[in-house]
Amino acid sequence: MDCKIVTIPGDGIGPEIVREACKVLDQVGKVYGHTFSYTEVLMGGCSIDAYGVPLTEEALNKAKQSDAVLLGAVGGNVGNSRWYDVAPNLRPEAGLLAIRKGLNLFANIRPAYLYKELADACPLKKEIIGDGFDMVIMRELTGGLYFGERHTEEVNGVRQATDTLTYNENEIRRIAVKAFDIAMKRSKHVISVDKANVLDSSRLWRKVVEEVAKDYPEVRIEHMLVDNCAMQLVMNPGQFDVILTENMFGDILSDEASMITGSIGMLSSASLNEGKFGMYEPSHGSAPDIAGKDIANPIATILSAAMMLRYSFDLDKEADAMEAAVQQVLTDGYRTVDIMSEGCKKVGTTQMGDLIVTYIK
Ligand code: NAD
Repeated sequence: MDCKIVTIPGDGIGPEIVREACKVLDQVGKVYGHTFSYTEVLMGGCSIDAYGVPLTEEALNKAKQSDAVLLGAVGGNVGNSRWYDVAPNLRPEAGLLAIRKGLNLFANIRPAYLYKELADACPLKKEIIGDGFDMVIMRELTGGLYFGERHTEEVNGVRQATDTLTYNENEIRRIAVKAFDIAMKRSKHVISVDKANVLDSSRLWRKVVEEVAKDYPEVRIEHMLVDNCAMQLVMNPGQFDVILTENMFGDILSDEASMITGSIGMLSSASLNEGKFGMYEPSHGSAPDIAGKDIANPIATILSAAMMLRYSFDLDKEADAMEAAVQQVLTDGYRTVDIMSEGCKKVGTTQMGDLIVTYIK
């Protein structure tokens, strides 16, 4: 298979971690007979420096013409950088919003997986962790409260602010289809999270999810209220396979789920459009505090590249090999500084990438 990938290294540690992910992809290509070709584009602070804007039309068009995008991270030191002395739409992070919108990426997937070897970093008690957890959160990314009508007014001398939460059935259906498709590649269990006891939008959400579920008889579907889900994540995280939810609930629940894994340098993410196209990036930011020191953990980006193989290219075997290689380096005791613990071997960014390459079989 020939895959055209646009890489966006971005700022801070971005270039260091994207380089390692490409190294691992190239090894997968060598072992399994695929070609990954890369076109690098600028986004974020580096694009502001070069072109005066965080994302150029040309960069966006190159991304549109690719099969998938691999992103490092954008942004600098918010309190101390010239990139932030400008209007919000010219700051580095505006590039992110523009590319998500420009590529119509409405489905955000964030896995939360607990590696046995890193269980000490998990803030939950051992009896709650049990055999660990392995879930993905499928969050709707372009609708709901964050994109609804909003205004602030004064009514009879009292200030009042209004935000509106709207979903139509098409928006719900397309994200539900994504969640069920992904459940078919996993343990075939979807928990749809809403607030159907209060909100009309949630009642419609539940109905449409039930309709979609009829097309996936192998997938077990349950509904859970969002307040209960927030509790269940810290009481019994092992029960979740795919959590399907709307924008704001997903924003909050995905941060909660990532916290219980304990290590930000390990968490991948993907944002998908209606078809197979996606943008893949680590969940963390550009970590300007450690940029250029060869100490950043490249694993979140490498696991994001594995998601790219699975969801954009349907290369499940190859994605499994990448995930197994990450598992093996951890089992063998190699750690970057952010996940270091006693008795383990400390390695830098480049060495971690090299080790993962050697484990791709
Ligand atoms: P951050 O995720 O960059 O860093 C938080 C802490 O985690 C830092 O101490 C950092 O050193 C550490 N860290 C992050 N990734 C790591 C890795 N791979 N290995 C080891 N340690 C790691 O969050 P922040 O400091 O709040 O933000 C820094 C910049 O990143 C800001 O400009 C912010 O806007 C931007 N940001 C970008 C994205 C994105 O591009 N998607 C996401 C979040 C934040």
